[in-house]
Amino acid sequence: MIPAQFEYVAPKTLDEAMSLLAKNPDEAKILAGGHSLIPAMKLRLAMPQMLIDLGRIKDLSYIREDGGRLLIGAMTTHYQLESSDRLRDICPLLPETAGQIGDVQVRNKGTIGGSLAHSDPAADWPAAIIALSAEMVAVKPNGERVIKADDFFVDMLTTALQPGEILREIRITLPQGRVGQAYMKVAQPASGFAVVGVAVNLVRDQGGACTSAGIGITGVASKAYRANGVETALVGSSLDGKAIAAAAAHATDGIDANGDLFASDDYRRHLAQVYTRRAIEAAASRAK
Ligand SMILES: Cc1cc2nc3c(=O)[nH]c(=O)nc-3n(C[C@H](O)[C@H](O)[C@H](O)COP(=O)(O)OP(=O)(O)OC[C@H]3O[C@@H](n4cnc5c(N)ncnc54)[C@H](O)[C@@H]3O)c2cc1C
Repeated sequence: MIPAQFEYVAPKTLDEAMSLLAKNPDEAKILAGGHSLIPAMKLRLAMPQMLIDLGRIKDLSYIREDGGRLLIGAMTTHYQLESSDRLRDICPLLPETAGQIGDVQVRNKGTIGGSLAHSDPAADWPAAIIALSAEMVAVKPNGERVIKADDFFVDMLTTALQPGEILREIRITLPQGRVGQAYMKVAQPASGFAVVGVAVNLVRDQGGACTSAGIGITGVASKAYRANGVETALVGSSLDGKAIAAAAAHATDGIDANGDLFASDDYRRHLAQVYTRRAIEAAASRAK
């Protein structure tokens, strides 16, 4: 339970952090809240020779609005997102997801950027980020690039971030109109991680019909995914009970579900359908 020896550096600017990482792309790792990285180092699953702590960089922790977009700094903690009154008004899916992560200590230290960059298959944020069709802004010394949520999660613990890149910001285009959002999960009782977690972001027209739907599912497979079949079935429907149940039946179409001691693959698939239906029902009833 003691990590291998490493050098610790705490740059005060993002430029300094980028340059340190660029000089040591294979040996160094970014430290955010440390709630995933430190346990991995203690188990010697990760043995970086250098930790670059982003915690002293002031301008990486923020929630801002820019026209119709929401900008979130990578070092924004789960608690900051959970407790934002403004987010409850304009994008309630974010505080609802944040409030279901781990416990108070985890939410106080853990960051949205750390969670996304870690890409744990049972993490909560990836489902919400996919449902919202967010964009991730990655930076390195010679520039930045924007990665769509659908392309960001590559596999278990693997993202599209390249060696030397730092996740700086998450951008979300705020949905307009009669928007309904919800996040529902079955939590693993010991860790709080999602056995199944379903994020829903939908819009209804004045008649009540669904004009757009974003459904992200975590916990089921080796990475969070977009439930395309559910989205297609929802759009154009009246979002009544029958239409929602029929759409939710597509929650695991084409997905190779994980099984473990806690939940078999069949049970996960079943939970995914049940929680997709419940989360869509909740989101549909909230669309004012
Ligand atoms: C007891 C416990 C319970 C938990 N329960 C849940 C839960 O219910 N749901 C859930 O979703 N999560 C849960 N977590 C995980 C928690 O949310 C972590 O905060 C999160 O997984 C990682 O965020 P972090 O800020 O701690 O990142 P760190 O642990 O510091 O970093 C994680 C990884 O991301 C990299 N990284 C971090 N920031 C960046 C960046 N800006 N750019 C590039 N790479 C970066 C690091 O190098 C490292 O590889 C739990 C953790 C614990 C310890």
